[in-house]
Amino acid sequence: MAIQVYNTLTRKKEEYKPINPHMTGFYVCGPTVYDYFHIGNARPFIVFDVVRRYLIYRGYNVRYVMNLTDVDDKIINRANERGVSSAEISQKYIAAFFEDIQKLGVRPADAYTKATDHITDMITLIERLVENDMAYESGGDVFFNVRNFEDYAKLSGKKLDELQVGSRIAVDERKKSPIDFVLWKAAKPGEPFWESPWGNGRPGWHLECSAMSMKYLGESFDFHAGGLDLIFPHHENEIAQSEGATGKPFVRYWLHNGFLDIKGDKMSKSTGNFFTARDILEKYPATAIRLFFLQKHYRSPIDFSDEVLQSAVTSNERLRLSYQKIVEAAGDVEAISISESDLTEEEKRFYSMLDGVHSEILTAMDDDFNSPLALGKMFDLFRETNRFIDNGLQTAQSRQLVDLARQRIDEYDSVFGVIDRSKAQVGQDKINEVVSTMVELRNAFRKERNFAVADKIRDALADAGLVIEDTPQGAKWRWGA
Ligand SMILES: [Zn+2]
Repeated sequence: MAIQVYNTLTRKKEEYKPINPHMTGFYVCGPTVYDYFHIGNARPFIVFDVVRRYLIYRGYNVRYVMNLTDVDDKIINRANERGVSSAEISQKYIAAFFEDIQKLGVRPADAYTKATDHITDMITLIERLVENDMAYESGGDVFFNVRNFEDYAKLSGKKLDELQVGSRIAVDERKKSPIDFVLWKAAKPGEPFWESPWGNGRPGWHLECSAMSMKYLGESFDFHAGGLDLIFPHHENEIAQSEGATGKPFVRYWLHNGFLDIKGDKMSKSTGNFFTARDILEKYPATAIRLFFLQKHYRSPIDFSDEVLQSAVTSNERLRLSYQKIVEAAGDVEAISISESDLTEEEKRFYSMLDGVHSEILTAMDDDFNSPLALGKMFDLFRETNRFIDNGLQTAQSRQLVDLARQRIDEYDSVFGVIDRSKAQVGQDKINEVVSTMVELRNAFRKERNFAVADKIRDALADAGLVIEDTPQGAKWRWGA
């Protein structure tokens, strides 16, 4: 079955058909780097990375691009507040952004594009728009001429007349129409600027995404994603700028994630109603945070509270223990091919459960990336596998089947990233510590010629599968017979 995607542009689910069979272009609006990002901003970073991973899992060659807006009013204001340069602010928060998404288990994009590295591309795009009579200069600023772009507001479905009424309060003499938006801003004293055919200035935010997405993904590409709040005006304006310049359809599928609410209010920086992802990562494991997001469909609103996150932590911990049990039970299985005719009834049932769950997970994810449903199926797989283990693994085939379950879980988790593997390592480190202490104790007893106790320690370790070898440098231990 083909992947179905809910497209904001058409307001319905559509079958995903790549524009170019060899490359799936995917652009996600990235952060404006003037502060640590809040946990609501983390949602698109996590969910669209999962969408991208799933597309890769399904065999698409995805090129995933994200912008970093490093020139903007917010950055300039923050720099002025702190008495530092804009570049200092943006560098600091770009570094913090990379740290935080890495901790959240978000895979790096194929390209992170900084606005300030692409000023020439932006100027070229504006020149094309001016040539097409889609843009005009006015007092050093350049505006997009909305009235000349027929398809304006096709993404948001807004009516031009309503927009005009809404914006009448702020009459701007420089604009031909109040709904025209800025492409290039003339430099004000103390602001960073670049030279352009219209004088010194800097690009508008909407323009950055048009110029950089087309540069890296082509004039028409498959997916463009971001939060629901970006539909208007940001994405609407991106369409106008790109299609106004090229005359081609800009993006085929527009994906938007729902808001994150705190007690019913949208989390946002402007209202002070927010927690940074950094704060949350100090309190909760990243895999639990991912579970919290992925247990809701990406388009649904999601309520944030400590209680909800706490329950994700509990599920996450259960998942971790269950996974460990499966890994241990599979052990070092010898690779034998499973022959269905040799399986017991119980094994046959387990084998067909594996296939059933597999197709259910694919069906769920193919249906507009329904991660809550898919995760539910993955939890079923954990439960069934643990029950199978508890019944006793009598045959080599049984262990082989458990190992197959483990492989499948690893496959699914390469998409979701919700299994906490860090503690498995911590567990191993603790074991190493305890064993080393026991080996040291044995050495001490041997020095005191208390061989009875020393041998007792050696035998206990041997029972646990550890071998102690006496070397000139002292006793060493290793796993094995
Ligand atoms: Zn954007």
